[in-house]
Amino acid sequence: MVLVAALLLGCGRDIQPGGAAAPASRQRTLADGGPDDRAAERRAMVERIADYSPAFRVRDPKVLRAMSVVPRHEFVPPEAAADAYSDQPLPIGEGQTISQPLIVAAMTAALDLQPGDRVLEVGTGSGYQAAVLSLLAAEVYSVEIVGVLAERAAKTLSRLGHANVKVRSGDGYKGWPEAAPFDAVIVTCAPDHVPRPLTDQLKVGGRMIIPVGAELKDSRSVQELVVVRKTAAGLAREKMMDVRFVPMVGEVRRSR
Ligand code: SAH
Repeated sequence: MVLVAALLLGCGRDIQPGGAAAPASRQRTLADGGPDDRAAERRAMVERIADYSPAFRVRDPKVLRAMSVVPRHEFVPPEAAADAYSDQPLPIGEGQTISQPLIVAAMTAALDLQPGDRVLEVGTGSGYQAAVLSLLAAEVYSVEIVGVLAERAAKTLSRLGHANVKVRSGDGYKGWPEAAPFDAVIVTCAPDHVPRPLTDQLKVGGRMIIPVGAELKDSRSVQELVVVRKTAAGLAREKMMDVRFVPMVGEVRRSR
């Protein structure tokens, strides 16, 4: 059976909104909790993720806690805000979408983040996934190829106190070499192969979660969400599930 768990119809320069990163005192942590508005809806969303069918549910308490803290409605345009806590991808402009919450939870859990970890995200989009990561890791570096999305996400993250996220507008196929190596890499757009620069920038012992596959041709075509582990012996690849993400664009198309 093919399970399409996510339909992401749409899924440098460093950006420092306001000229500087938010001061350390404003750094949001898991202990801060989230804003009071729509907290009950966030709790219900997290309960749905934990009670999903056994093959797909996510019960990692830290991931669920982070998702009950981050105000997803702040990351979507006003016209989509009413649906922010339903389990579906939503449009964020520029033909791109914010991922379905279940997929955000499953991908985050697969990274098995530790508090000191440094994480690379390719495909910042709205910044929501980066905000979730920022509560579970020490530093998040996120690259977005669409400049206006990168700028908007950087502003939202800064406003909400996610001061440990750096956003760059550029082609994430190349990773973020100056900040490498990373303990974990998460890719939220689909290349047709695992980019070599990203495995090169992963530490030995590191994990990458990435959708891989050809561009979607029709409603039945899917990509594979895979976990790539880097060991001293090389790369090990394990399939998690079938998914649908927007394609990775840019250099990836010239590097087949
Ligand atoms: N993680 C996002 C959702 C991402 S949707 C969130 O939480 O909202 C996929 C994103 O990948 C889109 O914004 C798209 O513009 C971006 N993208 C596509 N190709 C890319 C590339 N080569 N480098 C960086 N970003 C890319």
